[in-house]
Amino acid sequence: MNQIKIGKFIADERKRKGYTQKQLSEKLGISDKTISKWERGNGFPEVSLLLPLCNELEITVNELLSGERVSEEDYRKKAEENMVNLVREAQESKKKIILSAVVAGLTIIAAITLFLVSGMLQMENWLRVILIIIGIAVIVGGIAVACILDRDAGAFECPECHKRFVPDMMAYIMGPHTITKRKLVCPYCGAKKYCKKVLTHENINY
Ligand SMILES: [Zn+2]
Repeated sequence: MNQIKIGKFIADERKRKGYTQKQLSEKLGISDKTISKWERGNGFPEVSLLLPLCNELEITVNELLSGERVSEEDYRKKAEENMVNLVREAQESKKKIILSAVVAGLTIIAAITLFLVSGMLQMENWLRVILIIIGIAVIVGGIAVACILDRDAGAFECPECHKRFVPDMMAYIMGPHTITKRKLVCPYCGAKKYCKKVLTHENINY
């Protein structure tokens, strides 16, 4: 799904109908900021708004998802492409996020087990030290794998220029972060900001 293209399409169709962002937002019962966000390719209408939006603009959902007018002959082909794309994007992101959570979970369990064993059982000190070192290695390795999967599952969006990018691993690991945002340097405008995680690689220029 190319959000930039879809956003531009929404803007073009809105203007064609002679609506301002404010007028369209009032018809849909949402804020004009939301329309502005869509049109900048920064977000996509939520499911409940798809049909009302398409009705107002007199376009089909298929055309909205394609980001362009679709001719009779191409209609079916475009619809199938859009469906496959939607399912694939959702599946790939979900799979990687789940896998990354599983790896992180297993890592913690394995590490705690190792630490408990090394702490509770009678054993030589050198063996205890080795177990603790293995425990630390498991944690570091597990977190690295979880990070790789998580980084791969989507992209980050610059809050300044709204371009999307995948940060390199070093920047990704070193960047302070919250659950959905990470402080990164935008490769396009150079802003160092908290960038929002987005679940699609679409419209990234690598
Ligand atoms: Zn930027």
